[in-house]
Amino acid sequence: MHPITQKLLRLNHAEGFLQAGWPPGAQAALAENAAALRREIEPTLLAQFDRLRAAGKEAVTPVIDGACQGCGVKLSLAVRSALEYMSGVHQCESCGRFIFLGPSSPPKTGIGAGHGVEDGELAAANPPAANEPTPRL
Ligand SMILES: [Zn+2]
Repeated sequence: MHPITQKLLRLNHAEGFLQAGWPPGAQAALAENAAALRREIEPTLLAQFDRLRAAGKEAVTPVIDGACQGCGVKLSLAVRSALEYMSGVHQCESCGRFIFLGPSSPPKTGIGAGHGVEDGELAAANPPAANEPTPRL
């Protein structure tokens, strides 16, 4: 994952927990963490990030089997290969979410090639909703 996308993902998690007010004992640390991350991210990216969060969406989402897990749209080959080479911060062409290559993408070659991804695995790879208090820090 591109380092900036990673920061956006961490910010997405931190602000999700802040929004949920959970866990209660970690709010100050989360707020500090979120503020520090915001200082390291470009204002234009933050603006887009905030637009997505304000719309109640996860701002950062994985791409699995070439499809954005935020909106389900298949991404163009250009975006998909750019993601593989981590050549920058990328956004879904359809929903605008920041995207990264998901963990369940099967390898193109070698052992395991040709095996489809089960529906259950796809569901499991989806990030929790912002208001879902799942500890992931
Ligand atoms: Zn999308």
